[in-house]
Amino acid sequence: MKAMVLREPKPAEENPLLMTDLPLPEPAPGQVRLRVRACGVCHTDLHLVEGEIALPKLPVVPGHQIVGQVDSLGDGVTRFALGDRVGVPWLYSTCGECDYCRRGMENLCDDARFTGQHADGGFAEYMVVPADFAYPIPGGFPDEQAAPLLCAGIIGYRSLRLSEIQPGGRLGLYGFGASAHVTIQVARNWGCEVYVFTRSERHRRHALELGAAWVGRAQDSPPAELDSAITFAPAGWLVPEALRVLRKGGTLAINAIHMSPIPEMPYALLYGERMVRSVANSTRQDAEQLLQLAANIPIHTDVELYPLAEANAVLQRLKRSEIQGAAVLRIP
Ligand SMILES: [Zn+2]
Ligand SMILES: [Zn+2]
Repeated sequence: MKAMVLREPKPAEENPLLMTDLPLPEPAPGQVRLRVRACGVCHTDLHLVEGEIALPKLPVVPGHQIVGQVDSLGDGVTRFALGDRVGVPWLYSTCGECDYCRRGMENLCDDARFTGQHADGGFAEYMVVPADFAYPIPGGFPDEQAAPLLCAGIIGYRSLRLSEIQPGGRLGLYGFGASAHVTIQVARNWGCEVYVFTRSERHRRHALELGAAWVGRAQDSPPAELDSAITFAPAGWLVPEALRVLRKGGTLAINAIHMSPIPEMPYALLYGERMVRSVANSTRQDAEQLLQLAANIPIHTDVELYPLAEANAVLQRLKRSEIQGAAVLRIP
């Protein structure tokens, strides 16, 4: 099978992914093999290829927003049948036994494995995954529109939950890429007023089209204090800027697996019982709930489609914030 393989981390500009012929993977007991049809490209893929987050497996096939068709079943799989359309997100497996796993916090499992990091992902024609960590994709979404739901959507939804925004509340979003453009649709469905901070003029227009009440730059002051905020851009300097416009008792959720250092800031920005929390990975429950919401609302994802062979160019575009909505590799 064809796959875009990372042998060693390098800046995206140096085209770190190589088109490679790999043997067809065989599903182990409890796993299914997918014929991949679409795979979203995420900022985490960029951090991975550039070596900003750990690379426990090299070479590795990145990609963790996968939509495909089950084409082979490992022993004991009853959750899916051949031909089923399923999605695979970032969470590839957990130990199932530790305190975190037992207390509904499997996203924090010390032995969690992640798609495209510990196991080969979806920048390929085929991949294998534990059946318990794959999800049926609701009808009504073409493959390429469903792909961004699997990370951008799920992690955005978890961020929304962890931001403790209430229906009708005022929510700030910092950065407006793949995840924020899905998150705003859920927030609008909950009746929230959404304030979007981004330096990109194109992203601001996109936010207004999707129902933002106000758009500006992170240094601007919106017309009202925010109840909750989420940062999507991996820039630590956004933290004091977001706290500056957050009301007392409000929560700032940081949706980032890797971020530049948070600058020193006056305690007054935090005082007043403001909370800052990170968002790490997601649980299977988050995935199931977001996919259900996506079908009910329904969520529309804006996607830019590219062939598998152009994965390096897509990572470069992502790095320059040139993607409108989400980038997706289409694998015919
Ligand atoms: Zn991701
Ligand atoms: Zn565990």
